Amino acid sequence: ETDKAYLLNSIRDIEDFPKPGIIFKDITTLLGDEKAFNFLLDHLSTRYENQEIDYIAGIESRGFIFGAALAARLRKRFVPIRKPGKLPYTTISEKYSLEYGVDEVAIHIDAFSSLGTHKPKVLLIDDLIATGGTATAAVKLINKAGAHCIEACFIINLTFLQGDLDIKKTTPVYSVLEV
Ligand code: 5GP
Repeated sequence: ETDKAYLLNSIRDIEDFPKPGIIFKDITTLLGDEKAFNFLLDHLSTRYENQEIDYIAGIESRGFIFGAALAARLRKRFVPIRKPGKLPYTTISEKYSLEYGVDEVAIHIDAFSSLGTHKPKVLLIDDLIATGGTATAAVKLINKAGAHCIEACFIINLTFLQGDLDIKKTTPVYSVLEV
């Protein structure tokens, strides 16, 4: 647990970003601390190394950093889940509502190629879950793409927002740090 306290301390709080009243969790200070970054990757590797996983999917953009680093360590395939209009090949997408307006996540239609008899098993990763809107849409998108999300993993869960409640109806959720 002292390692988790170290990890938590490596994340910086930025007041009034991107809007007044919001305290933004800045993970660039975690990435810039090799002890914290390495502890995190060791911790996630230990959790997932013996689980059946075919793909690790990361959500744009900070989910790319953690997801791709973990995929490389575990020798798994990595799939990016992106904002609309970014992926070059044919995509499928899923809309979700924000406080004001809508947003969307997209994936290449062939991102999860079928693997013989079983549905591809996907670990979803993002840096942080707040309201859960983004990750809930990402889980739906993984299903739409013909795969199965075995778990949604976050470095930080802002638990007071209870953003994991919807996802938990269908998919296990794991958060390294709960704040
Ligand atoms: P949600 O859809 O759960 O409300 O928001 C989560 C998404 O917004 C994630 O993709 C996450 O990267 C981003 N996000 C929201 N608030 C923060 C924050 O305080 N720090 C960081 N690093 N990302 C945030």
